[in-house]
Amino acid sequence: MLNDTEEKQGTLYIVATPIGNLADITQRAIKTLSSVDRICAEDTRNTRKLLTHLGIKKTLIALHDHNEVQKIDSVAHWLREGENIALVSDAGTPLISDPGYHLVKALREMDFQITPIPGASAIITALSAAGLATNKFSFEGFLPAKETGRKQALLANIESPYTQIYYESSHRIVHSVATMLDVFGADKKVVLARELTKLYEQFFHGTLGDLHQWLVDDKMHQKGEFVIMLAAAESKKEDNDTMHSSVEQVLATLIDELPLKQAAKIAAKLTGISKNKLYKQGLALQK
Ligand code: SAM
Repeated sequence: MLNDTEEKQGTLYIVATPIGNLADITQRAIKTLSSVDRICAEDTRNTRKLLTHLGIKKTLIALHDHNEVQKIDSVAHWLREGENIALVSDAGTPLISDPGYHLVKALREMDFQITPIPGASAIITALSAAGLATNKFSFEGFLPAKETGRKQALLANIESPYTQIYYESSHRIVHSVATMLDVFGADKKVVLARELTKLYEQFFHGTLGDLHQWLVDDKMHQKGEFVIMLAAAESKKEDNDTMHSSVEQVLATLIDELPLKQAAKIAAKLTGISKNKLYKQGLALQK
């Protein structure tokens, strides 16, 4: 919704920054970071390094998980004063397992102008080169730190028909993969993306059993940042096919003995499938 003061108000830009390779910054991101009045950053020291690399000098405001909610009023005030503000995180797209959600939600509700400046994000970067299904995927973020919580979270996804995507750090990679192995079994198909866009970028693809072995075999494999992608649960098509043929068998046997209408009625009771559907199927069988 627009309001009368819209013209005077500033814009909050959500600016994506590289996830490793500094050359991945976009021209629009550089232009935006150069032109805003101030930049809210997850860690001002990290962002200062990026800005120095880009030759940009700017006022930086710390905005992280612990002060984000308290900062909402200040940011709203600056925007009302007509300032343009950028929000960045340490790497990738803000709000994606990074601070910014509370701020954006509150400012959106206050009808401020919020403009995304797209760029890198580890999830899409990893998925684009994984070779797993991309038509349906679920982003699961970081798993809980404790084994019980982690197991519970994974058990909830055991039948997931989506490619599941998890973020993980070097401290927990072995534990998380071990729990995945426990929950999904050694044969579950997995792709691990490590150190994306960086010098030692690496993709491992195989089974969870192989991945766990690969990680424990070499401590170097446990270093860096990771995206774990689990293949969707096997399609139930085979089961459906089997069920379909047994329903057909029941129907065919009944049709041999009874009029179609009655056969469809009894088959419906036996299988839970609608009477009309079975009647039509029966007609097709008779032909
Ligand atoms: N906002 C970021 C994004 O858009 O991807 C994610 C920030 S989250 C705090 C950091 C996690 O993202 C890492 O622990 C890792 O799981 C993943 N990640 C970030 N950069 C990565 C990279 N270069 N290679 C692999 N994973 C990465």
